[in-house]
Amino acid sequence: MQTIKTLILSSLLLIVFTSPAFAQGSQRKEIKIPDIPGYKTLKCDFHMHTVFSDGNVWPTVRVYEAWLDGLDAIAITDHIEYQPHSKDIPSNFNRAHELASPVGDNLDIIVIKGSEVTRKMPPGHLNAIFIKDANSLKTDDWRDALKAAKVQGAFIFWNHPNWKGQQKDGIARWYDEHSYLLENGLINGIEVLNGYEYSPEAQRWCLEHNLTFMGNTDVHDPIRMEYNFINNERRAMTLVFAKEKSEAAVKEALFAGRTVVLFKDTLIGKEDFLLPLFEASVKYNRDKIVLKKKEAFNLQVTNSSDVPFVLASQNEKEGISITQNVTLLPRSTGIIKISTSEKAFPGEVELRFKVINLWTSPGAHPVVIIPVKVKVE
Ligand SMILES: [Zn+2]
Ligand SMILES: [Zn+2]
Repeated sequence: MQTIKTLILSSLLLIVFTSPAFAQGSQRKEIKIPDIPGYKTLKCDFHMHTVFSDGNVWPTVRVYEAWLDGLDAIAITDHIEYQPHSKDIPSNFNRAHELASPVGDNLDIIVIKGSEVTRKMPPGHLNAIFIKDANSLKTDDWRDALKAAKVQGAFIFWNHPNWKGQQKDGIARWYDEHSYLLENGLINGIEVLNGYEYSPEAQRWCLEHNLTFMGNTDVHDPIRMEYNFINNERRAMTLVFAKEKSEAAVKEALFAGRTVVLFKDTLIGKEDFLLPLFEASVKYNRDKIVLKKKEAFNLQVTNSSDVPFVLASQNEKEGISITQNVTLLPRSTGIIKISTSEKAFPGEVELRFKVINLWTSPGAHPVVIIPVKVKVE
């Protein structure tokens, strides 16, 4: 009797676990990047296309992809001036957002209404997001399109300034038209990263003109056709430091310039945000180390985030040696070895490292001071 019961139970379990309700397809891959003091860290992609311009997916698919990839907010930004599917799908610039928005509500993904104003260089392509009526952006003069967006409270950013389709050498150039945008409050940010393309010029201009750092996929095909998820490749994204997870808070943060761009394992932005991100990610197993001459200690450093940190030592003191290069791998604990020789002098030692995969300006990396007191007796 017992055996029969067990048999029935195990066949029931077999049915339950092989039924579609337990299918493994719909699993969201969370991205672990900590909040920073005062703000939530939201993972966002503000540039993508659907069949409503030259993209190859229906708008709702963009929301499912965002959910699967661990994002918090997206903007669908179909081209206004380029409508290659218009024979099959009528031009209605508001429609993609109308279709995607309810799926976003259902999956807790913020779906922002946007459009890509698509003109020849200069000024090139610009995204206007948080618009109310995308149809009003269809104008002859690009100035009028951007002004119509601004009246609606849009956040406007310059897309892929170094795109080879408009700059053959892949080098971004600033034209009088961009000064016009700046003077008239018609530009709030620049894509420092578009897909796989990083622009050092865009990074410099963001710093020079106090514009918001943007990093987006500009995805046209299904996202898995453009990124290698099997090798855990990460899609381009903008980290937004928002007061809460809401559309209004994302908008406030973008206008305030509180973003960092995530490009594979590199974080691009201002020190004001990169350093708190590092500090929130990394913990140490001691806050005080005391060493005599000819002693050593292995300081354990735990990185709880999904982004590695590549540290290069900035410490040079006679008689003390500190690990030169340490990579703190994601969700792992690494070791910084501190050892003293015969020649060590008594006193306090500071542990300073340059973080090579944090980029504050082209070729520049911030220095972190590890808050562990090291005393040599
Ligand atoms: Zn474009
Ligand atoms: Zn685009």
